[in-house]
Amino acid sequence: MHSRISQRAWTLWLLTWAAPWSLVGAMFGLLGLATGGGAQRTGRVLEFWGGVPAWILGKMPIAGGASAITLGHVVLARSRPLLDQTRSHEAIHVAQYELLGPFFIPAYLGYSLWLWCVGLDPYFDNPFEKEAYGVSETRAPHQH
Ligand SMILES: [Zn+2]
Repeated sequence: MHSRISQRAWTLWLLTWAAPWSLVGAMFGLLGLATGGGAQRTGRVLEFWGGVPAWILGKMPIAGGASAITLGHVVLARSRPLLDQTRSHEAIHVAQYELLGPFFIPAYLGYSLWLWCVGLDPYFDNPFEKEAYGVSETRAPHQH
């Protein structure tokens, strides 16, 4: 009983800590729902696919566009099959948000900028991506 309560309190803390970026993700998710996309919940992650956010992902400046992006406890994907393909990768990003909370995006972009400045790949050399690619069984080239 006690451990169940503290487990819930811990989950609530993780959701709250990552909430600033989850809210940004949820706004894009709602935009997706309003433009023909769908949504589902997997564990404590809200997953969205399709609609205008899918179109934006396709325009992202990674070769061929991004398959999916994680914003806090929200994952946006170009399609429902891509959600399944990228879930193990994006789950690591969710864990990174749970660790760093509001500081995840500044840390991620800071690394990317530094890597770009020293001539390395801002995406594939990013330690956050290296960790995520290290655990996902399929190395799809355009996950984010
Ligand atoms: Zn990634």
